[in-house]
Amino acid sequence: MASAPQNPTTAAAGDALRVADIPGRGRGLLAARDVREGEVLLSEPAVLLYPATLASLSSYCAACFRSLPAAAAAASCASCRAAAFCSPACAAASHPRLLCAALSHGGGAGLAAAAPTEAVQEPLLFLLCAYSLPEPSLGAILSLSSAPPPPPGAQDAATLHVAVAALAPQHMLPAGFSPDLTVALLAKDRGNSFAIMEPYRPGMLLELLKARAYAVYPRASLFNHDCLPNACHFDYADRPGPGNTDIVVRALHDITEGREVCISYFAANWRYTDRQRRLLEDYGFRCECDRCQIESRWKDDDDNNGDDADDAMEEEGEEDGADGGDDGMEEEDGTGADDDFPHAYFFVRYLCDSEGCWGMLAPLPPLPNGELSHVFECNLCGKLRKEEDVVADEGTTGMAH
Ligand SMILES: [Zn+2]
Ligand SMILES: [Zn+2]
Ligand SMILES: [Zn+2]
Ligand SMILES: [Zn+2]
Repeated sequence: MASAPQNPTTAAAGDALRVADIPGRGRGLLAARDVREGEVLLSEPAVLLYPATLASLSSYCAACFRSLPAAAAAASCASCRAAAFCSPACAAASHPRLLCAALSHGGGAGLAAAAPTEAVQEPLLFLLCAYSLPEPSLGAILSLSSAPPPPPGAQDAATLHVAVAALAPQHMLPAGFSPDLTVALLAKDRGNSFAIMEPYRPGMLLELLKARAYAVYPRASLFNHDCLPNACHFDYADRPGPGNTDIVVRALHDITEGREVCISYFAANWRYTDRQRRLLEDYGFRCECDRCQIESRWKDDDDNNGDDADDAMEEEGEEDGADGGDDGMEEEDGTGADDDFPHAYFFVRYLCDSEGCWGMLAPLPPLPNGELSHVFECNLCGKLRKEEDVVADEGTTGMAH
């Protein structure tokens, strides 16, 4: 704890955050002091890690979720033979005991039969791993905020509960195992689990990038959403060394003490209606952030006033920007005084310009001598971009959040 940070991208920054009740928004995290751009605000280990799909088991270490080396046969799980480990240390750490037992059931065929599709695998794998946790960790998950009831058609909790009971030996199930606890746990998964993505390989379509695993971080789950966030999260799953699945949250820009620190729960280029739908379905609220207030007016104009060509163009401009045409968008806005699109600067500066990547760019932490790094890192493809390569309109640099 007291040792000097070894790696600036994973170093904890002390008490940069404090929990607060925010009127109308529930609990959230505020900057506990003035924060500089790039600073690590939070570095937190997962309380729960689980594979995203059954297919994840053949590609990633069952303990640390690093990509498995090509010849991983030597390290398959001695109990279930269906999971593999990247190292003797991970083999010794093993993987969640109920998942291991379920994979042993009928040689793994039992789990595959109970969860034929990825849509079923995700909640079933979550339950098997959550029910494997010791009491305090299970309690930490149950203390998180609950997602709203699942939409009709979602995998129903009763069926999943029966599947867990059938796959896991009775003596291994925790004392509180019940249909109600299963419902409660599932409501924590949706809305609190962070995806740890597959590694990016040059040339791959980032839209198709899938999660390799999901992870629950109790403190990070307190971050509220903003469609123009002032922080973003990273994982470094394939990095060597301990803590590879820790979540790392860094400040996009300077944040004044007392301001709320927010992340975006999805790619920042999503359209207004898609953002609102996701936030309502999975998190149970309507977003009224600065950006949504402006974009909701675009929507009204489009609906109520068909001849409002300017506003229609503005909306097009935003999509073009999301497609990588940021420069043109900036020039179109020209004066920088366009009240309908005050966040153009945000997209230019903080959205990755790699083709097809809508990752977010956050500055690397300040250097040990206190100087800013002036290097931005994408949280999805990992690209590093020098600040001087960012085309920024000097007239719109007044980001004040
Ligand atoms: Zn491993
Ligand atoms: Zn196993
Ligand atoms: Zn919003
Ligand atoms: Zn990127």
